[in-house]
Amino acid sequence: MRIGGFQKLSLVDYPGKISCIVFTIGCNLRCGYCYVPQLVLPERIRDLKEVPEGEIFSFLERNKGLNDAVVITGGEPTIHRELPSFMERIKRMGFLVALETNGTNPDMLEGLIEERLVDYVEMDVKTALEFEKYREITGDVLTEEMFENVKESIKVLLRSEVDYEFRTTLVKEYHSVEDILEICRALKGAKAYYLQNLRVMNELVGGKALTPFSREEIEEIVAEGRKLTNVRFRE
Ligand code: SF4
Repeated sequence: MRIGGFQKLSLVDYPGKISCIVFTIGCNLRCGYCYVPQLVLPERIRDLKEVPEGEIFSFLERNKGLNDAVVITGGEPTIHRELPSFMERIKRMGFLVALETNGTNPDMLEGLIEERLVDYVEMDVKTALEFEKYREITGDVLTEEMFENVKESIKVLLRSEVDYEFRTTLVKEYHSVEDILEICRALKGAKAYYLQNLRVMNELVGGKALTPFSREEIEEIVAEGRKLTNVRFRE
């Protein structure tokens, strides 16, 4: 599998666990607010130094008992056909595995859950589930089929036994309050739905400056949203 980064220690990326993070290369979307262009844009990927899988597995071997979990993120991990076997190898070593995904590959997601190769899933729900709104964030690369797949992945998680969370990055240029409440309605009954504010970074995939929500706005959304689903704000 093509890996573009490896972070050896995180105390926040797997709930309640000490984890390390694997960043896979490539993504099938182009979200304007994405802050990892080096893992997404082909012209930037060319400059990336890839991390050999062997380096990760040697680290895990040395850190059995110290590290609890491995978080796999990207880019979009599920575009890699080798992902299930990669995760299986990590699971066999005794680690918990979390997967961050944009939800465009529900078949792989369901297979990973059924085979118990994933312990925690974090899925982005970019905005209200309307094709044009979704495409405004994710770029022209989003097809109707991919959008239907995102909706299917939501259903897969809602009916699954696996631990999961949905999450949305709040951006003033993309979201109205009603958009977020619409997502809350679509995620009725979800185990967890987190709102996180835009990280203001110099370099975003869309190349445009974007604006986060204010604290007061977020508090209002959460107060309304909690009438609809299990929504919280993540600092
Ligand atoms: S934020 Fe969007 S473009 Fe960036 S990795 Fe996630 S799905 Fe891909």
